[in-house]
Amino acid sequence: MLDTITTTLTREQIVVAYTEMLSPDRVLTDEQTLKENSVDRYYKVENVFGTYSLPLPAAVVKPVSKEEVAKILVFANEHRINVVPKTGGSATEGGLETVVENSIVVDGSLMNQILEINTTDMLATVQCGVGLEQLEDELRKIGFTTGHSPQSKPLAQFGGLVATRSIGQFSTLYGGIEDMLVGVETVFPNGEICRIKNVPRRAAGPDIRHLVLGNEGALNYITEVSVKIFRHYPQNNKFYGYLLDDINTGIEILRQVVTAGYRPSVARLYDQEDGLYHFKHFSDGRCVLIFVAEGPKGIADATGNAIEEIVATFPRPTASTVL
Ligand SMILES: Cc1cc2nc3c(=O)[nH]c(=O)nc-3n(C[C@H](O)[C@H](O)[C@H](O)COP(=O)(O)OP(=O)(O)OC[C@H]3O[C@@H](n4cnc5c(N)ncnc54)[C@H](O)[C@@H]3O)c2cc1C
Repeated sequence: MLDTITTTLTREQIVVAYTEMLSPDRVLTDEQTLKENSVDRYYKVENVFGTYSLPLPAAVVKPVSKEEVAKILVFANEHRINVVPKTGGSATEGGLETVVENSIVVDGSLMNQILEINTTDMLATVQCGVGLEQLEDELRKIGFTTGHSPQSKPLAQFGGLVATRSIGQFSTLYGGIEDMLVGVETVFPNGEICRIKNVPRRAAGPDIRHLVLGNEGALNYITEVSVKIFRHYPQNNKFYGYLLDDINTGIEILRQVVTAGYRPSVARLYDQEDGLYHFKHFSDGRCVLIFVAEGPKGIADATGNAIEEIVATFPRPTASTVL
């Protein structure tokens, strides 16, 4: 919630106000914490070498409810305090940088309750500080999955996942977070708490979920998220990997698989350089094409067969059907 006008309050006044509002142990002001919260992984080098160059926030405040978030934002709004929302802290785009003097970082990671897993409506509702891996682990125990798998899965939490419009490695089948998000609760700077309802589809008017998706906390603070869940059939997974001499062959195979109507969960092509980086042990300087076919057995088998048939029509791809 960037504002070019800086507050007229002093750091001390800000800290006193938030300490009175929240319990003191949830208003962090020690210097190292403030330093670490002045940057994200875009300036990772500053965290590694301890060379911080941005203004330090006045405090990191840790709400435990949407009502506390509302109070925090109302005070900040009235006093022109810049607010930086945060959950998992894995951002790589500079969204967590405290570029304005005397900002506050509102860290929602204590709002970490899974509120509902509904296997009839195929929905999970979580607070913003629930980790993706935390929800995924619970779902796997009962045979379900979020289908969401960004590389930051062990770190990212649902507030940040929605605010960054995140996408994962299984997106060819499951989509990005914008396809998974069913409803969301947010708090506006004036303290208003707004719930975008869980409905199967928006038939009238604009789809206002998109005001929240990807706004990096610039418009509102996300407190609760409802996402689709899917049945998980790991026993049916089929893995395919191919070494290719040129990238254009890989692009054409991908194109043919997808335009034929198949949806492998993973469909990724690495050029020679990237192949060496990720698959040094076998890529041998060639491009690497990988697929995962998953779902109910009939669908996984049909997808896998189609991949192999399409690949076989190309000259000399070196195929290994199991990675
Ligand atoms: C190793 C690594 C791998 C990654 N891989 C991927 C990947 O595969 N796909 C991908 O999309 N991204 C990836 N990322 C980027 C990042 O992890 C994701 O964008 C993730 O969704 C951020 O979630 P977070 O909880 O860590 O958010 P944070 O880092 O805490 O915040 C990210 C942004 O969202 C805002 N925000 C956070 N919480 C809230 C909230 N409650 N309300 C409003 N705004 C909020 C913040 O202000 C900031 O702008 C990767 C990052 C790392 C470090």
